[in-house]
Amino acid sequence: MTARNGPDAGDEDDDQEDVAGAGRPDEDDGESCPLCGYFNSPADGDTCNHLRAWVWDDVVEGSPVYDEFAAAWSDFSELASNAEDVAEFADNALGLAESLVLPDALVAYSHWENAPLDVFVELSGAAVGEGWTLSGPLGGSGYCVYLESDERANAATDGYRALLAAIDPGR
Ligand SMILES: [Zn+2]
Repeated sequence: MTARNGPDAGDEDDDQEDVAGAGRPDEDDGESCPLCGYFNSPADGDTCNHLRAWVWDDVVEGSPVYDEFAAAWSDFSELASNAEDVAEFADNALGLAESLVLPDALVAYSHWENAPLDVFVELSGAAVGEGWTLSGPLGGSGYCVYLESDERANAATDGYRALLAAIDPGR
């Protein structure tokens, strides 16, 4: 009788799959809120309640308070940039701001070379996160903007609307 060692004998399955690793890059998809320290991952919809805008590769994903501000600012900025005499427009707008008891900064920051998010940060006193970067084909970089209270942002939005109404009542 010939003992036959099957070809399978001793052939242990050595190539175990590395399930736990799963090849994920060790990168943080988010940043900590400067106000409360919560780690925000806006791509996962996981954020604290201070987040007002998320910028990713220069595209702004805004909250309603930011979007309303940006709309009002854009209307005013467009009016300013279309003015025949920009200096005269600014003088007139500053006079109106004074009579409406609005801050001069609304006019000063409305210059069309400013990005609405930069103006939002200035006028609302928002905190800007340190930002983060993801590598790979779907990577990019971004940061978020945070507010403790919407009071100043809403006041700026209302201020631009009031200026618009005063300059161009027919709008
Ligand atoms: Zn927070």
